[in-house]
Amino acid sequence: MQLDQTTTEQLKELESSLNQQYIAFQNAGLTLDLTRGKPSAEQLSLSDALDGILEGNYKDSQGTDLRNYGGLDGIPEAKALFADMMGVKVDEILIGGNASLSLMYTAAQFALYNGVNGPDSAWIKEGKTIKFLAPVPGYDRHFSVCEHLGIELVNVPMNEDGPDMDTVEQLVKADPQIKGIWCVPRFSNPTGTVYSDAVVARLAKLPAIAGPNFRVFCDNAYAVHVIEDDAQALCNVMDAFRAEGTEDSLYLFGSTSKITFAGAGVSFFASSPASLNTFRNHLAFTTIGPNKIDQARHVKLLGDMGGLTEHMAKHAAILKPRFDAVLSCLEENLAGTGMATWTAPQGGYFVSFDGLPGTAKAIIKLAAEAGVKLTPAGATFPYGKDPEDKNIRIAPSFPKLEEIKRAMDVFVVCVKLATVRQKLG
Ligand code: PLP
Repeated sequence: MQLDQTTTEQLKELESSLNQQYIAFQNAGLTLDLTRGKPSAEQLSLSDALDGILEGNYKDSQGTDLRNYGGLDGIPEAKALFADMMGVKVDEILIGGNASLSLMYTAAQFALYNGVNGPDSAWIKEGKTIKFLAPVPGYDRHFSVCEHLGIELVNVPMNEDGPDMDTVEQLVKADPQIKGIWCVPRFSNPTGTVYSDAVVARLAKLPAIAGPNFRVFCDNAYAVHVIEDDAQALCNVMDAFRAEGTEDSLYLFGSTSKITFAGAGVSFFASSPASLNTFRNHLAFTTIGPNKIDQARHVKLLGDMGGLTEHMAKHAAILKPRFDAVLSCLEENLAGTGMATWTAPQGGYFVSFDGLPGTAKAIIKLAAEAGVKLTPAGATFPYGKDPEDKNIRIAPSFPKLEEIKRAMDVFVVCVKLATVRQKLG
């Protein structure tokens, strides 16, 4: 069925048969949940060896006692491993605590109040509203960092190869109050986009337009989280900025949250040695040092990039059938209908679904009333407002495969029902 070629009579018939299917789902008393972008228990178990892995050896490679205070940067072996993962040099990274989101918040807060280039560069000193660019759909918690700090978010469309750089450049040229941009360069949340080399190269040129206090907040949360073996690679982001001489303006973030234990691993911040030093000086006011024991445990579990890649392949083996279940259900039921488009990510944690404009809230409501919980409409946009009310983030990692299949059967019926009802007016 192609929506555009369907008569009103046919739509009415369709509505009635879809409604019957929908009522059957409602009567089945389902309680399914596709909202949670977190690893499944099966994935977490891949890292259970972390517990007790140090076997009483609490010294790092330099003989530092991991149980004691100190070492703001983290231990050398953790810096070496995660510098490799982030594609930076060891003097360009520091290893933080359990959440990269805390590092992002801290970095934004320091830039706002303390300055990226000395106190006079504090964004707040400009006395005007500070703004960040938000490629959309994007990650709600990035947006809430800004919302909480009073930084205004400006939507930028997301293309297949990354943020729409024409729009980004125009906005940055026109408005000096834009001080940053959020980026998830590999397997973006939620679209799964991998930024092209050309987009990264243009991002690296932005500080030349925006000035030395501009920062690219590049959250490489899914750097190694491939689902498909031949997943598109990301170029070396730091090298791209280095080539432009703008590496001071790059803030790179990452963590092991979706490598080992979510919220119970380590995070990292990378930038040029100069910017890292500024950040470190600020950070010293918030902590005496990170949890070095967790860092050592991670190094022992993952070893080197080879070990890390093997570990991620085990995650992929668990995740792939779940993503396949989502994608095949969408394909079988909605392809060619003109009712929706969706992404087919090669890594990361999400499928981004677009219904027709004005249907997302209705789809989510229908699904909820049939026992399938979806991420609230608008969650992927700043201020929770999807201007077209069409994007839905599907998170297939956490539920069991059978639950995903069942939830998706309900979802596609809700999509069709909401769309047909909208057409009928
Ligand atoms: N960045 C992105 C893009 C995410 O999707 C998530 C979690 O879903 C995080 C960061 C959270 O990372 P962390 O647990 O290190 O704070």
